[in-house]
Amino acid sequence: SRLPLRRALLSVSDKSGLVELARALDAQGVELLSTGGSARCIRDAGILVTDVSEHTGFPEILDGRVKTLVPWIHGGILGRRDKEEHQAQMSEHKIAPIDLVCVNLYPFASTVASGADAETCVENIDIGGPAMVRAAAKNFAHVAILTDPEQYDGFLEALAKGGSTLSERRRWAANAYAHTARYDSMIARWFAEQTAENEAEALLPSVLTVAGERSDLLRYGENPHQQAAFYRDGSQRPGLATAKQIQGKALSYNNLNDTDAAFEAVAEFEGPSVVIVKHANPCGVASADTLENAWKAALRCDPVSAFGGIVALNRPLDQATAEQISKIFTEVIVAPDADDGAKEVLSKKKNLRLLLTGAVPDAQAKGLAFRSVSGGFLAQSRDHGHVTPESLKVVTKRQPSEQEMADLLFSFRVAKHVKSNAVIYVKNQATVGIGAGQMSRVDSARIAARKSEDAARAAGEDTALTVGSVAASDAFFPFADGLESVVAAGATAVIQPGGSIRDQEVIDAADKAGIAMVFTGMRHFRH
Ligand code: 5GP
Repeated sequence: SRLPLRRALLSVSDKSGLVELARALDAQGVELLSTGGSARCIRDAGILVTDVSEHTGFPEILDGRVKTLVPWIHGGILGRRDKEEHQAQMSEHKIAPIDLVCVNLYPFASTVASGADAETCVENIDIGGPAMVRAAAKNFAHVAILTDPEQYDGFLEALAKGGSTLSERRRWAANAYAHTARYDSMIARWFAEQTAENEAEALLPSVLTVAGERSDLLRYGENPHQQAAFYRDGSQRPGLATAKQIQGKALSYNNLNDTDAAFEAVAEFEGPSVVIVKHANPCGVASADTLENAWKAALRCDPVSAFGGIVALNRPLDQATAEQISKIFTEVIVAPDADDGAKEVLSKKKNLRLLLTGAVPDAQAKGLAFRSVSGGFLAQSRDHGHVTPESLKVVTKRQPSEQEMADLLFSFRVAKHVKSNAVIYVKNQATVGIGAGQMSRVDSARIAARKSEDAARAAGEDTALTVGSVAASDAFFPFADGLESVVAAGATAVIQPGGSIRDQEVIDAADKAGIAMVFTGMRHFRH
């Protein structure tokens, strides 16, 4: 049933649209109640409004901590219009019904983000606001609750038709509880950051903040029979959440997943770099003096898999590189920016999706990663581990050369972004063989080498690209056989975490083959 409107309570921190709403309500003869700042704003616009303190006969006290927390407000919101006892009690205690509550909350998140001191942050925890929002949403059968200025127009349209409908009010109630849930989870996160014992625990409440965050519905999930949406967590980390789509078809679930994998990987490298991803695994990674050269080197690794791939760049896309990339079919290009020439070139590829993120994320930033399991989810701090030259230990008789050392570090950074078991071959800051996602490390080493032979053949070369390369393994070699197959592929130096009980066996095999090997002490499983 449509809701007649006699009295509205307006109490908002974000005052946008407030005057327009008040004016429209006033024109319909609705009595307006409002708190200090909101009332002033409405009155300044020449609209008649009653202060809550005047309505209740009780002043706003304790610096505004108690403004609306009185029975004359909460009774007016919560009283059932369809129950005689409620109506009788309301008249006995002189509680006037309130049919519309329009509230948005103290800006806690932006206060924290501004770097305010703890006392100011605490003062920006809204108490009366959420109480009113929750009360009005509970009584949605009789009361409308608006928590976002973007809802005002829809409400006024409903009013013009004689009042809001039950289903409209039910939807606003759902939004209202999402709004307060999200608000409290931001506060929980702020407290947790100061008191939690580890990183996963500190960031955990952030998952709750997505409850009320607006999502993008996706056409479908990983497969067409699955439904999906993209939720932002409000963190503003450069990447999918900040990306502007310049052109191309709508992004799918798989596009987003793969684009994220590619962009996080390319963020590992300092110089102009390119990562090509297929099914969440890199199939070509390279750094070079220019983006164009990085693209050519990345493509050479596995040109067959690169077809229909996702390309991530850590520099603004230029025209020359765009021309090269557009020679093959690509699903998505993601970059911090693109120049006009590059945009012009890509505009001819109507379906290609171009995403510009504004910046490249910090690969070493803290954050949380989730995985759903039956009955719950697993949370862990994101893998922001970063191996530096100082943290490496040479364990063989032979020392790696300077060139090998640079390639070893590069290969281990790639290994971090390849599904386990990962074995990566690298030459001159470019992958020349990637073995991903095998149940046996030996298989990953062999697959990478075999693919590299294919790539060499495609390029018209007669030796496999892995000859004279360096190799990385995301976790230790449990036996010497994995190391031996890497040596057989032609690697001259190896990087791996170490830590197996058979490390000595593996070191002996490396010495016997005359190659160099370094231990990182850090593992990069990725499942
Ligand atoms: P105004 O700018 O109108 O003075 O204040 C509006 C804000 O006060 C809104 O964000 C509303 O949620 C909040 N608010 C309303 N009543 C109370 C209360 O009793 N206690 C607290 N802490 N905040 C309130």
